[in-house]
Order: sequence, then structure tokens, then C-alpha cells
Amino acid sequence: MTTVNETVEEFRLRARTWLAESMPRLDDRVAPATRAELLDHDRELQRTLWDGGFAGICFPADHGGLGLDPEYQQAFTQESLPYDMPFTFNVPTLGILAATLVDFGTKEQKQRHLPAILRGEELWVQFLSEPTGGSDLAGSLTRADRDGDVWIMNGSKIWSTAAYESDYAMCLARTNWDVPKHRGLTMFIVKIHQPGIQIDQIRQVDGSMEFCQEFFDDLTIPAENVIGDVDDGWSVASRLLLHERAAVGGGSPYTSGRTLGGATRGRDPLMVRLARRAGRVDDPIARQLVADAHVDQLVAAALVSRVTEGSRSGSLAPAAGAILKLFNAVTGVRRTEIMLELAGSDAIDWAEDDEEGNSIANTFLSRQGYCLGGGSNEIQRNIISERVLGMPREWAADRDVPFRDVRGNSMPTTR
Ligand SMILES: Cc1cc2nc3c(=O)[nH]c(=O)nc-3n(C[C@H](O)[C@H](O)[C@H](O)COP(=O)(O)OP(=O)(O)OC[C@H]3O[C@@H](n4cnc5c(N)ncnc54)[C@H](O)[C@@H]3O)c2cc1C
Repeated sequence: MTTVNETVEEFRLRARTWLAESMPRLDDRVAPATRAELLDHDRELQRTLWDGGFAGICFPADHGGLGLDPEYQQAFTQESLPYDMPFTFNVPTLGILAATLVDFGTKEQKQRHLPAILRGEELWVQFLSEPTGGSDLAGSLTRADRDGDVWIMNGSKIWSTAAYESDYAMCLARTNWDVPKHRGLTMFIVKIHQPGIQIDQIRQVDGSMEFCQEFFDDLTIPAENVIGDVDDGWSVASRLLLHERAAVGGGSPYTSGRTLGGATRGRDPLMVRLARRAGRVDDPIARQLVADAHVDQLVAAALVSRVTEGSRSGSLAPAAGAILKLFNAVTGVRRTEIMLELAGSDAIDWAEDDEEGNSIANTFLSRQGYCLGGGSNEIQRNIISERVLGMPREWAADRDVPFRDVRGNSMPTTR
């Protein structure tokens, strides 16, 4: 357990010892054969963190966390880089959805879900994007209508990552059609595996089936599952998006271990290994590519520190997380390209049993996901210009118009 007044350095040393004794090393990791095995494995690792007293370092102490400052989480993350960690739980469960629950959940909701999440018992997913478009999140057509003690939901969400294996979702739905779009939304906790929800998996270009589309057909949701106030779901969604940009950009205090996209924030042995494998360690072009990737990582680390500190001190707007998200997307794509360039002609013909090679090829195929997941690059640029740099807002035809009067909102999900 955390001792009262333990300094960051004392905490770091205790974490170092505990990690060495309790967590498997990444070098010894045998990749689980299936998604289901990976999830079981990560649930166990999350439980190990909980049992060891290192789960939820920045989560409130009265809801299962340690209630410590981000410096403690940062120290733990630095120490944990050589170890296998429950990465599946980082995003969106811990970094985005549990974080939003801390900010907006009722005491009862937090007590019900936060300790269970920190024990690895609940995996969460976001039900935000819809088939009509994910960028215009406030244009949600999925609807929820109050019926006595419950809400009845109808409509469809899409691009939800691994919804089929998750336990709960945060779902944004329209609850009021008579006010402008941002003012008629409500955020709900939705239990995933129950009657009224059909989940279809979508095959992607790299062969994976993680993306899902959900169909809600008179789904019943208890009234106590509303997060925040009815019709004020946009406040909850906005906070969720702030957490998302921080988590996806690598600046969240709620996640443990290496950041998304596989990038560690220190030296990256992968690029050197790829150059060596291709017999190109002395090739000046290959050396330049390895250096490019390394510099991106150094800049990422400095950027994360600067934006996190700036947002905390108030010198940067909270929306500055969009800078991290954009940087992560642009360099994430570049990183996959460098991997392929380093591998040269081998890159198009990895052997069947070459796990690393196949993983690189698949990451390359799905690389544009970095530029879309968590909000597209164009949307991040809009946010940076409007909310960080204070430039004029983009024109919108539907601003201040009751949602039912906006052209195109023909309410396909109306019951
Ligand atoms: C890896 C990954 C994981 C994801 N996980 C989830 C998830 O778990 N849950 C979930 O709900 N969604 C998820 N998404 C969906 C993601 O949030 C959306 O793809 C994203 O918000 C964009 O929405 P869209 O795909 O509908 O594109 P659209 O909104 O239709 O946009 C199409 C294009 O138009 C551009 N555009 C749109 N509006 C503007 C504007 N105002 N100014 C300039 N350009 C604009 C966009 O940048 C984009 O290039 C995920 C996506 C990816 C790739």
C-alpha cells in the first residue's frame, strides 16, 4: 500500500522492486493467439496491479484508486516500460471512460464501476460515432425516450472498437429534438450484453474484425444510468473528448505503461533491429530513417510534458490535448512508413510465421486509423485553431436551430 507522504522517488523504488517480482517482462512475452486470450491475459495483469496496490494511481482513493498526483503515475510508467502491462485496459477504459466517470458519475455510479474496472472486471467502449458521420458528434440521431423509470433507446452506433468483448459502453443519444443539437443530448451507461442490442463485427483491410456496429431496438436503460444531467450530455461528451485526446496523445495520468501506437518514450530498439535485419545498418539512408523515428519520439516526450504541464497550470487551453493527438497521428503514420522503408523489398513478402513482419505489414495497412480514431486530423486542426489559438469559429448551418428543423435530420431512428 502507498505509505502516507511517500515521495515520488520512494514510490518509484517500491514500484521497481514490485514490478520485477510481480509482472512478466515484455522480452519474454508470447503473443496470445486470439483476442479472447489477449483479453483474459490483460484482465489477469490488471488484477495483479490491483492486488499489488498499483492500479489506478491517479484515481480517487475513495473509489478504489490511490489518489496520487500524475508525477507518481509518470514514475510508475517509466519503471514499467520493460514489462508486460494490461494495455487493453488503457484506452478507452481507463484513460477515457473511467476518467469521465470520475468527473461526471454519481457517487453510486463511481462505486459500482470504478473499483470493478481497476480490478480488471469491466472493459468499456465508446458508443459515439454513427453511420451518418463521427466528426459531427453532436448531430447524433440515436435517440432515447423516457418511459416511466427507464429510457428506451433506438438507433445505431458504429466503429466501436471491440464492443463485442466489452462489458459496458458510454453512449451519447438524443433526448430532446426541440433545442439546438448540442443542448438535446444525454450520456448513458449501457450494459452491452443484453436483449435490445445487436452487435455486428466489421472486417477491415488488415483482416481484423475489431470494429463493430451496434443496433439498438427498444433497448431498456435504467434512469440511474444517466451520466451528468439529462439533455446536458454534450458537457459529458466534451470532457470525454478531452480525456480521449490526452490518452491517445500519450498525456493521460490514468493509463499505465507505454503509449498507444507501440511507441515507447525512450530508445526504440525496433527500428535498429529492422535495419539490421535488412542488412542496412551502414546504409546512410537507413541510418537517417532510424534517426528520424528516434527524434519523433524525443519530440513526443517533450511535447507531452509541455502540453500536460501547460494544461495543468492554465498557460494552455485544456483543448491543447488536440496538439498531442495530431502529433501522435502524423508521427504514427510516419513511423509505419519508416518501418516499411527500412525493411525494403522484404516488406511486401514477410514469411507466414514471421510475427513481427506480419504485424508491421498489418500496421501499415491500417495506418490511417491514427488519423481518424479519437477524431480526425482535420477536426484536431479545427480545435487547435479555434480553441487554442482563438481564431474565429467555423461556420455551421445548424447552429442555434432546433434539431428537428435542421435539414437532413430526417430521424431515421424515430420509433
Ligand atoms: C482506430 C479507430 C478506432 C475508433 N474507435 C471508435 C470507438 O471506439 N467508438 C466510436 O464511437 N468511434 C470510434 N472510431 C470512429 C472515429 O471516431 C471516427 O472515424 C472519426 O470521428 C471520424 O468520423 P467518420 O469516420 O464518420 O468520418 P466523417 O465524420 O464522415 O468525416 C469524413 C472526412 O471529412 C472530414 N471532416 C468532417 N467534418 C469536417 C470539418 N468540420 N472540417 C474539416 N474536415 C471535416 C474528416 O476529417 C474526414 O476526413 C474509431 C475510428 C478509428 C479509425
